[in-house]
Amino acid sequence: MRPPDCFICQRSLRDGEPYSSFTDVWFALTPEEEAIRREQDRQGWVGHPPEVEWFCDKHSALAEEHAHLHWREALELLARQRGQLGEAR
Ligand SMILES: [Zn+2]
Repeated sequence: MRPPDCFICQRSLRDGEPYSSFTDVWFALTPEEEAIRREQDRQGWVGHPPEVEWFCDKHSALAEEHAHLHWREALELLARQRGQLGEAR
């Protein structure tokens, strides 16, 4: 897992945000991807899975609303929020 930084506003620990203000949100996988993930887990793979992103306390609720979607679709929709929220850097 990467250290936390918000997928939407890019706030991170470097901005002085406490670790506790970040939430890791796991989005949905296709059945094929789930099978690959299970195999990777079995082999002790450690890395940052593409279906997981960090969100700060301001944006975790929005992210959770999308958690039932496939991660590609969810992240595409959430990336569109960046400009609209006026918090992108
Ligand atoms: Zn954020």
